[in-house]
Amino acid sequence: MRFTVPNPSEALLRELRVSQAVQRVRQLPTVFVANPLLAAFVAVVYWDHVFRTLLVIFVAAQAVLWTPAILSWRRLRNRARPTRVSPNNEKRALVFSISAGLLWGAAAFALYPAGGTEERTTLVMLLTGLCAGSVSFFSSSPYASLGFWLPFMLSLLVQALTFMGGSPVLPAAIAVFTVSAFWFTRTSWAQFVENVGILVERDRLLQEAKASGMQLELMLSRMSDLAMVDELTGLKNRRSFFDDIEPVIAGSRRRGKPVAIALLDLDHFKDINDTHGHAIGDDVLRTVARRIEETLRQEQIVGRIGGEEFVVLLPDTTPQQALVAIERVRKAVGETPIAVTGGSEVWITVSGGISPLVDGMVVPTALQHADKAMYRAKALGRNRVEVFGEVAEALAG
Ligand code: GH3
Ligand code: MG
Ligand code: MG
Repeated sequence: MRFTVPNPSEALLRELRVSQAVQRVRQLPTVFVANPLLAAFVAVVYWDHVFRTLLVIFVAAQAVLWTPAILSWRRLRNRARPTRVSPNNEKRALVFSISAGLLWGAAAFALYPAGGTEERTTLVMLLTGLCAGSVSFFSSSPYASLGFWLPFMLSLLVQALTFMGGSPVLPAAIAVFTVSAFWFTRTSWAQFVENVGILVERDRLLQEAKASGMQLELMLSRMSDLAMVDELTGLKNRRSFFDDIEPVIAGSRRRGKPVAIALLDLDHFKDINDTHGHAIGDDVLRTVARRIEETLRQEQIVGRIGGEEFVVLLPDTTPQQALVAIERVRKAVGETPIAVTGGSEVWITVSGGISPLVDGMVVPTALQHADKAMYRAKALGRNRVEVFGEVAEALAG
């Protein structure tokens, strides 16, 4: 007979061990009451047939053997369900069941010959009951189950066969009980294995579902990222930029603070592509984006709205303050060369245009103004920042 369980995961195995141990502890009261009680009953039945001290010793031994069971039940019954069980727990259960089995076996071996038909029948019935109890108690461990009932059933069988002279009914009954208990243990073990199999399968399906769920989640978050983020630079894309600035503009206006918007366009960027290739052009775009982001403050919102065009919203900012901020950006982009793939360095400059977003003005209008200012910067030789029309004159004045 092979007692193998399907291949459960570590977590599942631990879970099974815990529930077996918990189940054993729950059943302990029945076991530690039933064993000494049945032992006492056997002693009463055989009281006039054997040496009484032996009977007292047998009952006392039962009481002593089951004392640890009472103690561990008392200790464990009010505890929270454990999350792990020591490997010794199963070993202890096995040692326990074998000790109890041997004790009953010795008693059956000694008592059987001493009784008449009535006493023997009682003994066989009692031990058969214990047999069935052990199978259910140790259902998760066929070894513990066999270790418990095999010694006394075998010793009964041996005795019954030795005393064949009498009725053949008892030996036959013991043989039938032994074999059926054996089959019962097998069946209950097979059932246990089947249950484990179902749990293993469930565990596997759960893991699979979890993995594919995680993949789906990842895909969804990536999709929503793609919808919001410019993939090349990681900045906000056009749509999310215009979505995100609305509440910020409203906030500034509520507080009666000015708002400015700035456009930035790389100078002669086409030349970079033409000279170094598109991939290097992309490297430059990424670095420029990072420099813009690092130079600006947290509350200033930046997005990439065209191939090599960036837009910045500056809340609570006058055009003059915006000029200072965007000048810092211009210098951050243009004053240090950009290291690109392949080890070479590329110089790039940027031109900027700024427009205030005055009360009542919609964003597209302010953007047009910023665009105009930016083209003036281009026209005036690039690598500079201009403020839109009248405002510029006011600033200059
Ligand atoms: P200027 O703005 O100073 O007038 O000159 P420019 O050469 O930058 O102007 P233009 O708008 O004509 O060129 C923009 C170039 O940017 C054209 C296109 O090849 C390049 N470009 C646009 N998007 C990308 C991109 O995502 N990656 C790369 N590598 N190049 C891009
Ligand atoms: Mg350009
Ligand atoms: Mg351009």
